[in-house]
Amino acid sequence: MSRDVALREFSIPFIGLKLGETSFDFEIGDKFFTYFEGSEPTEGSNIQVEMVLDKRPNMMVLDFYVEGTIKATCDRCLNDIDQELLDEFTVYVKFSHETGEMEDEDDVVFIPANETHLDVSQLVYEFVTLSIPFQKGCRAEEIGGPKCNKEILAKLGFFSDEKGEDDNDDNNDEDIDQRWSALKKLK
Ligand SMILES: [Zn+2]
Repeated sequence: MSRDVALREFSIPFIGLKLGETSFDFEIGDKFFTYFEGSEPTEGSNIQVEMVLDKRPNMMVLDFYVEGTIKATCDRCLNDIDQELLDEFTVYVKFSHETGEMEDEDDVVFIPANETHLDVSQLVYEFVTLSIPFQKGCRAEEIGGPKCNKEILAKLGFFSDEKGEDDNDDNNDEDIDQRWSALKKLK
């Protein structure tokens, strides 16, 4: 399937929409990512994106709700996990009467005033990518669960440190060093 055909559903014929909110649903799988340059290969992505387009007389407001899972490796115990994605983004679409290209701002997209369609594929790609957490990990209730690599977790001090889940692992190196030296003394 060519890129144009595959991404056709992302071309929104907003000119025909009534004023007010219209909702669009997109199913995002691994194939979707391959249409974008520089995309990391993904596995097992099962992502739903709902876009609510609020058409107003002089502009449009787009709310994107990203929800789903993507296969990843837990940073802590190296488990294969379904990393959950949950995020939302807002973009303002304004019509430009200027000739030539308008520079897009942070959350504002400019399109020519005589435009009839809006291609949201790039926006969907960017928002799905942004919703993938930089640090990937098992959910709290999975830590130490049947799928978890307990050996590695023990080395990281997950069973001796009952302070709960702490995403700031800065002080862990020292903890581990102390445990290792304690182990060495046992030899
Ligand atoms: Zn884990």
